[in-house]
Amino acid sequence: MLSVHTSPLGDLGRGENGGMNLVVRRQCAELAARGVPSDVFTRRDDPGAPAEELIAPGSRLIRIPAGPARPLPKHEVLAWLPHFTAGVVAHAASEGREYRLVHSHYWLSGWVARGAVQRWRVPWVHSFHTLARVKAAAGLPAEPQRAEAEVVLARAADRLVAMSLAEQADLVGLYQVSPERICVVPPGVDLERHSPRPVGAVRRRMHLDGRRVVLYVGRLEPLKGAEMLIDAAALLAEDPTFSDVVTLVAGDDSGDGSRQAEPFPGERARLMALAARRGIAHRVRFLGAVPHAELAALYALADVCVVPSLTESFGLVALEAQASGTPVVATAVGGLRDIVADGLTGHLIGGRHPAAFARRIGELLADRDRRARMGEAARTRAALYSWERSADRLLSLYDCVESPEPAAPLESCACL
Ligand code: UDP
Repeated sequence: MLSVHTSPLGDLGRGENGGMNLVVRRQCAELAARGVPSDVFTRRDDPGAPAEELIAPGSRLIRIPAGPARPLPKHEVLAWLPHFTAGVVAHAASEGREYRLVHSHYWLSGWVARGAVQRWRVPWVHSFHTLARVKAAAGLPAEPQRAEAEVVLARAADRLVAMSLAEQADLVGLYQVSPERICVVPPGVDLERHSPRPVGAVRRRMHLDGRRVVLYVGRLEPLKGAEMLIDAAALLAEDPTFSDVVTLVAGDDSGDGSRQAEPFPGERARLMALAARRGIAHRVRFLGAVPHAELAALYALADVCVVPSLTESFGLVALEAQASGTPVVATAVGGLRDIVADGLTGHLIGGRHPAAFARRIGELLADRDRRARMGEAARTRAALYSWERSADRLLSLYDCVESPEPAAPLESCACL
C-alpha cells in the first residue's frame, strides 16, 4: 500500500488526516485478519516517529525518509516523489521482499506506484479519494498539473477503486475511464464504536444541559463548505425559539485549508471571523481536532449532524453520525447521496442555499419525534456498511487483477 502524503496512523481531523487515513488503516487491518498481510509506505514527517510500526498484526507501516522530516503541504511533497519511490524500492530490496500487488492512495501515491510497478511487474490498483476535475467543477481552484497526472494514472493503473457510485460516474464522465475498470468499494463504519448511548454525563461536562446541538465534523478547508453551516446557524438564530441551539465544530485546519484561505491564517480563523460577523460567535464552539474515539459521544449527543461539503467522494462523517442514530442534513453531492436517504435518515440539499439548510435543520430541531424516527432509520441504513464487507470487496478485486494475464474482466469478479 502506498500512502505517501499522510500516515494511516495520523491523528484524524487535523492537517491532511481524514477519511483516507481511516480507510487505509481499517482496510489493512481487515485484510490482515483474513490472512493478507500488507506493508504501507508513507513519507517520514516526524523525526521522532519510529521507522516501522504495526497498524495491526500482519500490517506494517514503514516511514520512508524523503525530504524534511516534518509535515509538508501536498504541493511540496511532489518534489520528493522520485526520492520516495527510490526509498520504497530500496527498502523492498533490502529485505528481499516481493510484493504481489500494489494499491496506491491519492494521486501522489499513484505517481510512486507507477514507478514501482514498472520495476516489480506486479498488478496495480489505485484509489483517487478526491479528483481535481471534480473539485474544479464544484468551483474550487483548478489544479491543472494534478488533473493531467490523474488522467495518466487512471489510464495506467490495472483497476481503479471508487468509494461511491458518484465517484465511479465522475471517473467515467470526467476522466473517460471505462466502467469495467472501476470497482466500487465503499468504506465501512464501526457500529460498536458509533452507536446511540447515554450522553448525560458528556452533556454536563460540556455545559450542554438543556441545549439542542448541531454538529459539524471534518477537516477545515473550503471543500468542506463549513461556511454554509455558520450562515445557516445565523439564520436559525434569528428565531427566538432556537435561542438554546449550540453549533459544535470538530476538526482543525487542513493543510489545504490554510493555503487556500490565504491571506487569512487558516480556514478555522476565517470561520470564526464569519461567526463573529453574523453575531453568533457565542453560539458556535470550535473544538479543534477531536480524537476519533471521543467523537462517538459527540455524534450521539448531537441532535443533527450537518455535512455541507461542496464535493465528497464518500463522506464517512455522515455514515458515522447515522450509525450513532443522529439524522444528517447534507449537500446532495457525491457519496453523500448514497449514504443519506433523503426524507428518511435526514435531508439532502441541492444547491448552496443557507436558507434551505436552515429550514431542514430547524425542522429537525423543532420535532423530537421526527428526530427519533429519522435517527432510528439512520442507524439501520448505516448497518448496510461495514469494514468487513469493504475488505471482502477489495479482496475480490485483488483476486481478479492477480489472476494470470490478462486480468479477469470485472464482470466475472465477485466484487461486483
Ligand atoms: N475525524 C476525527 N476527528 C476530527 C475530525 C474528523 O476523527 O476532529 C474523522 C471522522 O470521524 C472521519 C474522518 O475524520 O472518520 C473524515 O472522513 P470524511 O470521509 O468525512 O472526510 P475526508 O477527511 O475524507 O475529506
